Amino acid sequence: MSLLTIDLNALVANYRRIAATVAPARAAGVVKADGYGLGAAIVADALYGAGCRDFFVALTGEASALRPTLPVDARLFVLNGLAPGDEASMIAAAAIPVLNAPADIARWRAAAQMAGRRLPAAVQVDSGMSRLGLAPDDVAAITADPASLDGIEVVLVMSHLACGDDPGAAANIAQRARFGELAAMLPDAPRSLANSGGSFLGAGFHGDLVRPGIALYGGAPQTTGTAVMDPVVSIDARIVQVRTVPAGTGVGYGLTSVAPHDRRIATLSYGYADGWPRMLSNRGAAYVAGICAPIAGRVSMDSICIDVTGVAADVLARTSHAELIGPHQTIDQVAADAGTIAYEILTGLRHRHARRIVAVAEREDAACGS
Ligand SMILES: *Cc1c(COP(=O)(O)O)cnc(C)c1O
Repeated sequence: MSLLTIDLNALVANYRRIAATVAPARAAGVVKADGYGLGAAIVADALYGAGCRDFFVALTGEASALRPTLPVDARLFVLNGLAPGDEASMIAAAAIPVLNAPADIARWRAAAQMAGRRLPAAVQVDSGMSRLGLAPDDVAAITADPASLDGIEVVLVMSHLACGDDPGAAANIAQRARFGELAAMLPDAPRSLANSGGSFLGAGFHGDLVRPGIALYGGAPQTTGTAVMDPVVSIDARIVQVRTVPAGTGVGYGLTSVAPHDRRIATLSYGYADGWPRMLSNRGAAYVAGICAPIAGRVSMDSICIDVTGVAADVLARTSHAELIGPHQTIDQVAADAGTIAYEILTGLRHRHARRIVAVAEREDAACGS
């Protein structure tokens, strides 16, 4: 059957590379959207074993699901803030909301009053991306009225880079400066600005805590940088059948692939219902025994046809699977072929076929134990 492999050793190697790059700042792990589609619990467990103690999800529900799998000293932040009505679940999950708006702050303050104790929070400021976080006026209002944070223990002040993946972007410098100004107006707390890309922009961007996501999962952190991560995901699709297609014969829905010569076409058990973008119809390739086999025709729900004319018959006869993601084809390459980003490829992958988890070979936390 088709197989999706997740190599937790590679994940841990990527985490360690980032942690070493940003030290003495610490590295968190962003595990939103079910660990970028790979499984938040297994990813967080492996990262914890590598020394990670700070985890970011997007939703309270994600925090509730992840908390029981995490040791108590792991901090769990919720990026999309405190949705109305989520107070009790947030507290039950011992999660830390990222307060993005004055209304978030008011709700968390009220929750603290109800709970009769101080509640931890991260405060996010908008340093220029115009997506999430307090506007400069909101920050000024807090400076003018510090009581607006009564009952809230600010454990992190953060912001997010719009262009962290582009080392040449002037916006990075501007956002860093704006972040510094806004953070100085808030209670003194550890600071966090960098995502994966920002972690490779130099020490001036590291603050106290960096928040990598995609780089942990093997995606290139920057479009032009030199940092290369270990591939974490591979997909080997089963070859269901192989046929000779005579010159002039169409392949797949709409018969959109026709060639002026005979072809060998292999059909793979993988399709858009598995998360392989239909945009890759007649675009991109699979690899068979290391040889490039272009996608021929439209991607179907459960199958993809590839042109294996270039693969020797005896080699093909011995080969049961084609590589869709792996040593010959990175997630960034697939994303580029599909006109999207590695994030969307990863989070779109479904759990329909077999999954193989390559366990972490050695763990620091185990080594320190009894
Ligand atoms: C998703 C996200 C991250 C991680 O971004 P990557 O580009 O995957 O490293 C960090 N911080 C915030 C606020 C995010 O939303």
